This record gives sequence, C-alpha cells and structure tokens, in this order.
Amino acid sequence: MKIRVLGCHGGELPDFRTTSFLINKRIILDAGAVTGVLNLKEQLAIEHVVLTHAHADHSRDTLFLADNVIGSNGKGFMLYGMPVVLKSIKQHLLNWHIWPDFTELPDKSNPVITMQEVESENTVVINGLEVTLCMVNHTVPAAGVLIDDGNNSVVFSSDTAPTDRIWELAAKKKNLKAVFIECSYPEEKKELALLSKHLTPALLRDEIKKIGRDTMVYVYHIKPQFYKRIIKELKQQHLPHIEAVKLNQVINI
Ligand SMILES: [Zn+2]
Ligand SMILES: [Zn+2]
Repeated sequence: MKIRVLGCHGGELPDFRTTSFLINKRIILDAGAVTGVLNLKEQLAIEHVVLTHAHADHSRDTLFLADNVIGSNGKGFMLYGMPVVLKSIKQHLLNWHIWPDFTELPDKSNPVITMQEVESENTVVINGLEVTLCMVNHTVPAAGVLIDDGNNSVVFSSDTAPTDRIWELAAKKKNLKAVFIECSYPEEKKELALLSKHLTPALLRDEIKKIGRDTMVYVYHIKPQFYKRIIKELKQQHLPHIEAVKLNQVINI
C-alpha cells in the first residue's frame, strides 16, 4: 500500500495543508488538499474518494475535483462515507447554492460523483483494499478508517477526542502496521481540544495504549500555530515509534 501525504495539518497557512491522503494513486482519503497539490492527470486518475466526515477541512476539494473532472470529460469518481456524512455533503455543499450538484451532472445516469453509503463498522472493497469505517468521537458524525490490503493494514483515526471502538478493531488486526492519528492541540489547550473533540499529545498517548502493542504511529492534523509545541510535547510521551507526517511524504506499508 502506497500512501502519499497531500495534506496533513489541522488548519491552513502557507506550507500547511488540510487533511488528504492519496492511496495507490486511485483513492483519496479525505479531500482537504487535492486540487492544489495533484496535477490534472493525477486528479483524473482518482476513482474513489472516502470522506471521514463533512467538515470543510476534509471535504472541500471534492467540489473542485468534480469541477476539474467535468471540464476534462473525465469519468468521475465514487464518493464514500457514512450515510449522515453523505447527506450533509448533498444538503450543504452540492445543493446548487454553494456548488452545483455533481451527483446529477452532466446527467443523472452518468454523474461525476456517485455516492456510496458505508455504515459504521461495515467494510467496502475498493480496488482490492478492504476499507472499514468506524464511528469515532467528534463534534459531528465522523468515522475512523481501517484499510487492509490482505497483507498489511493501517488505521486512520480521523478527527476525534478519546474514543474506544476503532482501537478495539485495530487491536484485532494481526497485520496492523501503522496508526495514523490526529493531534490538534498542545496540552495548554486541552480544554479547547476536548470542547472541539480533538486530541493533545498526552491524550494521543492514552489512545495508542488502547491498542495494547507497539506499532508505528504517524501523527497528523496538527494545528499550524501550535506545530513546534506539539512536536516537542509528542517527544515527551515516550512512544517508541512515532513521527509527524510531512507534506508530500510517501509511506509504503
Ligand atoms: Zn473535524
Ligand atoms: Zn479536521
């Protein structure tokens, strides 16, 4: 499994991009940074977009990708998410006010965006990968994602405060190779982290412990204004294998 980091921050500033991963060149996991990063050929190669939740920092480039596809006569893409997430996208973004409804364009029988609902704890097979969504603990319905290619598996936490079920599922995966986990705020902002349903470095450590064994930990969704402090505090957690992912990093699992 080849994972390219298109965006990995919890906010946007020059040199910081919101969350998006490209998996095996055809699958986007969260669309916070797609159209400003990939060239048109790479964008037209995308067949599947999986959204963990509807927040703009994870969903917005779905809109601009659809627009680039239709303008290039591309064949469009499948959009996956929990039913409540896809309903939000349809009602609040693809509503002809914020953006045209690309689930009906260029025509209803052959649209740019085809939505496929995936219930929490259900698995869908996408280009040979088993992709399982699992509800986590955020201010809006959000799903962490487990991806298993048959040999290796990884888990993405999505945006979450302390949560349990996704780690139970991760612990059951004997072939788990890495955990991608959010860390949005430093300890000083713990109250804000819990209010907005995110993690701090110490909360992150407690989440990782729930898996019950050593695994590679990739940290993402760090808020740009707290970047240096969070990196320092992550080091203080004494987790054996941990690093913050970087823009354009390619991780082979
Ligand atoms: Zn969010
Ligand atoms: Zn977010």
